[in-house]
Amino acid sequence: LLQLSVPLNFIGMLYREIRQGLTDIEQMFDLLAVKPEVSDAPNAVPLTIDKGAIVFDNVHFAYDPARPILKGVSFTVPAGKTVAVVGPSGAGKSTISRLLYRFYDVQSGSISVDGQDVRTITQTSLRSAIGMVPQDTVLFNDTIAYNIRYGRPDASQEQIEAAADIAQISRSIKDLPHGYETMVGERGLKLSGGEKQRVAIARTVLKAPPILILDEATSALDTTTEQDIQAALDVVSQNRTTLVIAHRLSTVIGADEIIVLKAGEIAERGTHTQLLEQNGLYASMWNRQREAIQAEEQLRLVRESD
Ligand code: ATP
Repeated sequence: LLQLSVPLNFIGMLYREIRQGLTDIEQMFDLLAVKPEVSDAPNAVPLTIDKGAIVFDNVHFAYDPARPILKGVSFTVPAGKTVAVVGPSGAGKSTISRLLYRFYDVQSGSISVDGQDVRTITQTSLRSAIGMVPQDTVLFNDTIAYNIRYGRPDASQEQIEAAADIAQISRSIKDLPHGYETMVGERGLKLSGGEKQRVAIARTVLKAPPILILDEATSALDTTTEQDIQAALDVVSQNRTTLVIAHRLSTVIGADEIIVLKAGEIAERGTHTQLLEQNGLYASMWNRQREAIQAEEQLRLVRESD
């Protein structure tokens, strides 16, 4: 009896492990609100990654064929550089990051990484080369340590803590009742949007991918949190090929190139200074955001003087 129960236990354990793995992936897709729509080509090969240079070449894409979303988008993110995509809501910014991660395939044109079309390589190898800090970070009903370790399952406790330091979240974690072993998610501690994003940054630091996609949260964060996050992201994106999907213009000033997307087409491109000089869409977005920030500031002053 004893002899039999051991292997059964082992199978039970294995089963739970596999189930856990599956739920994680399902949760991930659920929370990112995307279905796994693409599969590997029969002759797909692993990506040979060098420094992760990205090329979008005349990309056309639609979720629904009747409604084109990207209409001939071409740009390059040279190895180690940062390119930011900005533009009005619904312009197709996040779609660009989903296509690079290959949640969907382009209708025409191509996307390549280090010269390899993403449709010709395995999804696993592509995704392991990319670190994604999404708008809504997925946290599992497990400990903080587990949630950070997700970036690299074999990471040691020291490595987890070092990553949390870089992501500027270690101090908040140490203040928790059970520190790194505190449960988070539905059955545990609720983290704020900014804290969740920092957990995602810590995860990405551990994963240390050559390519980084930062899909900035639309939800407003307070200025200190935003500055902390920006500082953490600046460290992480150094010497990494980085694509920033930006909703706030304050975070793109330092980008090597800014792409201004409007209704699925590139309306303007250049550095922050060049775009302000052009006095076009970017300049007017910039002025509007500055006015909004100033208005908020005024409102705060008025409230405080009450
Ligand atoms: P925002 O700044 O508001 O996040 P965005 O520029 O990132 O906007 P996208 O998320 O890329 O915009 O969406 C572009 C368009 O595609 C939107 O009109 C959106 O409604 C549509 N869209 C996005 N995801 C899907 C989907 N899964 N199925 C169908 N349409 C979608």
